[in-house]
Amino acid sequence: MKTQLELAREGVVSPEMEKVAAAEGFTGEKIRQGVAAGHIVIPANPGRKDQKICGIGKGLRTKVNASIGTSSDISDVDLEIRKAKIAEEEKADTLMELSTGGDLDAIRRKVLDNCSLPVGNVPLYQAFAEASRKYHNPNKLDPEYLFELIERQLEDGLSFMAIHCGINRFSIERMRNQGFRYGGLVSKGGTFMVSWMEYNNRENPLYEQFDRVCALMKKYDAVLSLGNGIRAGAIHDSHDRAQMAEMIINCELAELGRNMGCQMMVEGPGHVPLDEIQGNIMLEKAMSGGAPYYVLGPLPADSGAGYDHLTAAIGASHSAWHGADLICYITPAEHLALPNENDVREGLRATRLATRIGDIAKYPERRELEKRVALARRDSDFEEYFNLSMFPEKMREVRNSRKPENESTCTMCGDFCAMERGFSLFKDDIAGDKCRHPEKKKETV
Ligand code: SF4
Repeated sequence: MKTQLELAREGVVSPEMEKVAAAEGFTGEKIRQGVAAGHIVIPANPGRKDQKICGIGKGLRTKVNASIGTSSDISDVDLEIRKAKIAEEEKADTLMELSTGGDLDAIRRKVLDNCSLPVGNVPLYQAFAEASRKYHNPNKLDPEYLFELIERQLEDGLSFMAIHCGINRFSIERMRNQGFRYGGLVSKGGTFMVSWMEYNNRENPLYEQFDRVCALMKKYDAVLSLGNGIRAGAIHDSHDRAQMAEMIINCELAELGRNMGCQMMVEGPGHVPLDEIQGNIMLEKAMSGGAPYYVLGPLPADSGAGYDHLTAAIGASHSAWHGADLICYITPAEHLALPNENDVREGLRATRLATRIGDIAKYPERRELEKRVALARRDSDFEEYFNLSMFPEKMREVRNSRKPENESTCTMCGDFCAMERGFSLFKDDIAGDKCRHPEKKKETV
């Protein structure tokens, strides 16, 4: 079996590339060129039938990932299935199953059976969780088991994996020499791997045997997302030497992986002040040869917990604008608790809105929908306004809860509605593309 990257390099436009092209409004050939260059990835493990196909990368709509999964404190598989269904309902593009509590094989399989999104995971979670249970010490993990586990998870149908290949002894030395950090370590998989390396006085097996990781990913044509295991978890740590050491390695590995025919993506932070987001993305793109960039938010402030979905949405709009390709949502429970169903919904809405804002800036030629929304609002056509907008049910709920006397207005301004007054003043002057229904210009409503 050939990967999407290998097919693209042979000049083949695959059915998956055609689907991405249809969804994005391009030709299959344009998508093929992006895949061949390593600028676009398509997470679509062929072993999983009927999954939705999406493309991630340059020139495409910025995609949104929702993460779900049990923890050692709260392990309720039915709750996670409900969260997966909400993620799909709220139009997430991909799903990460990040369970660490309960029967991890069973949970993964149940999530895959109950969702049609491309599903990814972090294999280190299960590896270290099982080593903790078996040996009462995660540092006793046998690296051979890690490779077996990756294959077992891929066999189940995962379409992408975040794997922490880029942490090595050089990057850990940078962490020590810089005097640790303000915000410590924040990646679960990354921290367990650092601990394993220190305990065993050994190099990261995922770095040492990177070709073996790539061979597995290639076998199932899963996208390898190079995990950001020592990402900054505080804005004061952003772009410190440890983070940059890992980023340089990850970008180098992205090129090596592509040379082996593997679809590659690089994972980014984390916590980044707003003024550094553009530079962060520029570095990833320049050093990785334009590999798709998957960022977690990022959060441009550390002090907004309780509303971190909003903090992250501000970071996400900037990162989408400056070239991030896939953004992991952040929920209101971030830094506080395992997300519940409502957190998943709110996190996704905030992140989808952020990527829409980012894409409006990234692709100025694709603003037509915003124009149609504005025209419907100008003309007090509430039905069209609802139908074109991102959250019509929420709009209806709010409007219906406080109905106006005059249906052309809302209760915000009532008789002082500027829209209605402005329209009546200028309706006969509406011309060109400012006219919604040119054939009935005079009656435009
Ligand atoms: S009442 Fe005010 S807020 Fe409502 S549609 Fe008119 S101008 Fe807009």
